[in-house]
Amino acid sequence: MSDSGERAPAGLDTSRPSVARMYDYYLGGKDNFQVDRDAVDRVEKAMPGTRQVAHQNRAFLRRAVRYMARQGVRQFIDIGSGLPTAGNTHEIAQEVDPSARVVYVDNDPVVLNHGRALLAADSRTTVVTADMHRPDEVLEHPAVTRLIDFGRPVGVLMIAMVHFLTLDEQPYVMARLRDALAPGSHFTATHATTDGLPADMVAQTEAVYATTPTPIHFRPHAEIARFFDGFELAPPGLVMLNEWRPDADAPVAQPCWLYGAVGRKP
Ligand code: SAH
Repeated sequence: MSDSGERAPAGLDTSRPSVARMYDYYLGGKDNFQVDRDAVDRVEKAMPGTRQVAHQNRAFLRRAVRYMARQGVRQFIDIGSGLPTAGNTHEIAQEVDPSARVVYVDNDPVVLNHGRALLAADSRTTVVTADMHRPDEVLEHPAVTRLIDFGRPVGVLMIAMVHFLTLDEQPYVMARLRDALAPGSHFTATHATTDGLPADMVAQTEAVYATTPTPIHFRPHAEIARFFDGFELAPPGLVMLNEWRPDADAPVAQPCWLYGAVGRKP
């Protein structure tokens, strides 16, 4: 899509950067436009190393899904799934158990188009359009209720997503999701943090995302921990995501500004 003269399919807004397409570009994908690449270049200038952090974030997602699957979770809702990339949630979960079911949720039409082809290759996986800000839309979507049995544990992923919620909407959104889940369900999220970062770096990055339909909010550890209220955190808790159960061959000492955790509903 990006290389053929940058012509966007009808219905696609290329007047503003989109976080789905920006994230695709961070990860080296091709589903992005000049407006997205320019935004990423501005972020990368404000916070050098953002690309590596995006890759660390994907690696965390893979570890978190593997962890939840090994805890016995067999159905997942991946909210804000993004464009298909290497090591998607269903691929990781189905490595542990081929019967694992995954619903991908995103509000970007590009994700739906590409996801239908690449993520939803079998009857245990599907992609739906719904808005995280309206959790009922997610929980009551016919494809969600068809694939997910809310009487059994579910793994809910909001990886690099909860920093797009305001603190005003957080209590309602999180309570609605948590209350829908059976005991033994898991919730995992990563969130950009202000901890250890110069304020002007954060301000410049937030300013770039303010030009998208999806403003970002960097926050300190204590505020991020609130997203996990009602969940028991798996060791080592809410930590820089490259410190969360790192693989033996993980690169050491890279810069990181996303916290990540996995919590279990008791
Ligand atoms: N979770 C993935 C992708 C993160 S990029 C990962 O961590 O690797 C953020 C994604 O969230 C984008 O695909 C974007 O389209 C989606 N998104 C942003 N706001 C959303 C909302 N309100 N509801 C659902 N998805 C949303």
